[in-house]
Amino acid sequence: MYNYPHKLLKLINEISKLPGVGPKMAERIGLHIIKKEYEYIDNFSLVLQESKELTFCKECFNVSDFDLCPICADNDRDKALLCVVESAEEVITVERTGKFNGYYHVLQGLINPLNNMLPDNLRIRELLDRVKNKNGAIKEIILAFNHSVEGDATSLYISGLAKDSSAVMKISRLAKGLPTGSDIRYADEITLGQAIIERKEI
Ligand SMILES: [Zn+2]
Repeated sequence: MYNYPHKLLKLINEISKLPGVGPKMAERIGLHIIKKEYEYIDNFSLVLQESKELTFCKECFNVSDFDLCPICADNDRDKALLCVVESAEEVITVERTGKFNGYYHVLQGLINPLNNMLPDNLRIRELLDRVKNKNGAIKEIILAFNHSVEGDATSLYISGLAKDSSAVMKISRLAKGLPTGSDIRYADEITLGQAIIERKEI
């Protein structure tokens, strides 16, 4: 049975490892790439190589070009507010609402024992250390997680620890304007902005 040339199969195989890309789509993208100019392919490989230079901000653990991301390096933001999010995607989503001017902390996941995501795999310890080291400058932690099983478990865990350490004045969560189970990343800016404004203390 005929199949694609080996080098094309290898390309399709790599593409199929991307999230949300099924075998058919991988084939289509692979065939699309080889139709492109060499310049495009060279540039694509270069961009991929350069992505290895990305790092995580040492303060908030957001993905960054530098040791300190532009948000943490910005002294004009509200130091009393810290928004805790699951991943770099939510930082961008919250920023787009224009309703938040504090700093962020990226957990790099939510608690989900079924997926082996335990508190120690996340940046929770770093969050508590960060709050403690600021000596009361952080007045409120906003937990901007989805209203899902994982989001609820992570909120409960963090609020329990933070209250024990009594390092934080106030802990809040986004208002439930977002439909239960819906993803913050796909919420429109107005709905998410409103959920931030109407956040509830927990
Ligand atoms: Zn940062």
